[in-house]
Amino acid sequence: MVDDEALRDMTVRLGFNNVIDAFHNIGGELGVRFFIDERRESKGIRLTDDFRRLAADRQAGDLVEEVEARWRLVETAWELGVAVPLVSYDPDWLDFGADLRGRRVTVTSARGALNGYQKGRCFYCFGSISILPGSIELADIDHFIPHVLGAWLPGNINGVWNLVLACRGCNRGGMGKSDRVPSARLLDRIHARNEFLIGSHHPLRETLIAQTGPTKCGRASFLRLVHMEAMTLRVADWYPVHKAMAAF
Ligand SMILES: [Zn+2]
Repeated sequence: MVDDEALRDMTVRLGFNNVIDAFHNIGGELGVRFFIDERRESKGIRLTDDFRRLAADRQAGDLVEEVEARWRLVETAWELGVAVPLVSYDPDWLDFGADLRGRRVTVTSARGALNGYQKGRCFYCFGSISILPGSIELADIDHFIPHVLGAWLPGNINGVWNLVLACRGCNRGGMGKSDRVPSARLLDRIHARNEFLIGSHHPLRETLIAQTGPTKCGRASFLRLVHMEAMTLRVADWYPVHKAMAAF
């Protein structure tokens, strides 16, 4: 056992060591560096031009939302004593929540938690989206396999595995996806997204594993199975018109 004071001292001394070492490592080394570690030479870190570019980028506001959402996800789950795997999306509340002794509690904003992988791009057309409340490009949270088919399909339709951020053009009626089943050609894209979240130790990693299976191969089969069953309910499939270069 350590007392509070010892714990605080230890945090001040060691707390940032691993953060600095691990910062550029997201399931593999990042191609850019946001700071140079000069703790040995000058007891600090030196920010790079890439960091300044990031701060000036139109997605800088999204980044703050996203980091906040990640923290809220982990912290609220701990605080409430809810296991992160039990977290699922609530379409009425537009957030991730959990059932706590029969009561529905909000865990975090779904937009913030999902944006990391999509980098401000629509999952389908790669057009630009935002997660900042009030933005004209505010993303919709889209069920990859349509929510209306959920009752007839295996798996939790509101699970993180099935949720993406989409621009309004792609999500809603008209030329949009609406209640249509996405083309099988998009299965690799959603699978890659889910595997990225699992591989990068995202707070939703355990949730995804609990919802879709313990192995990569099993998770791919799960997606194919749900998609195949969805296609028996809706014959026509949907594929987006790409508005920008593929971003993931
Ligand atoms: Zn779109």
